[in-house]
Order: sequence, then structure tokens, then C-alpha cells
Amino acid sequence: MRHLMRAEYEEDRRDAVRTWHMVRGDEHVAMCGRVLRADADTLPEDSWGGTAEPDCHSCGALYLREVP
Ligand SMILES: [Zn+2]
Repeated sequence: MRHLMRAEYEEDRRDAVRTWHMVRGDEHVAMCGRVLRADADTLPEDSWGGTAEPDCHSCGALYLREVP
């Protein structure tokens, strides 16, 4: 299954990423359950762990369980 990283923003600021979450396909609900903006920025899944902003720990645990 294809995954994407999707951004959670600081309050309503469009330019400040607070945390990166992981979603399945093109969903906008993160694997941890957090609802993200449908127009939030995305990154390819192989960027996980390589961003300046922190990654969601819950998403990371679930993602690693799904991806060998
Ligand atoms: Zn998450």
C-alpha cells in the first residue's frame, strides 16, 4: 500500500509545519487518527525521518508495522 507524509500545521498558519504524519494513499486522516487538512503539503514516504520538523511517533510505529 502506498503511503504519504502529510503535514500538520501550527494553528492555522499555512507556512509552519508542526509535525509530519503518515497517511495511507491520498487520505487526509493520519494513521494515528488525527484529521489533517485536505490541502496540507505531502512528501513521499521515504522522507520519513529526514525532515527538519518532527515526525509523529504514533504514525511512525504504525507505519513501520505495515511496511517491511
Ligand atoms: Zn500521526
